[in-house]
Amino acid sequence: MRVNRFKSYIPVMEYIRGQGFPYRPILWGLRQKCPCCGEAPIYRAYLKPVDACGSCGTPLAEIRTDDIAPYFTILIVGHIIAPLLLFLESNYAPPVWVHLSIWPAFILTLTLLGLPRVKGAAVAVMWHLGMKGNETQ
Ligand SMILES: [Zn+2]
Repeated sequence: MRVNRFKSYIPVMEYIRGQGFPYRPILWGLRQKCPCCGEAPIYRAYLKPVDACGSCGTPLAEIRTDDIAPYFTILIVGHIIAPLLLFLESNYAPPVWVHLSIWPAFILTLTLLGLPRVKGAAVAVMWHLGMKGNETQ
């Protein structure tokens, strides 16, 4: 008997297909704008969401992304840093102090720049799917 490993993902993909893939909300989320209208900012501080969109009134504070934004930020930054680090080390083999002076600042900058954008995209996907982050309660 053949086992479909991706069986648990199929309903999610069918649901996304039925709704249409949320390209535009994700793009607006990456720009840190409201996933519904793309007009008003979604944050009132670095990662603190506004209660509701200033343009269309969509409630945004109730969407809790929890750890998904840091997870994807680490994933993206890691995939940027690791090849660059390996390239530098394998081609130039600089002393350790060069690595210690370059990479922490580069990683911190990429992470701090990427985290609000990735969280905006996560908010957009959750808004599109009608999720609030409290589905298990
Ligand atoms: Zn809006």
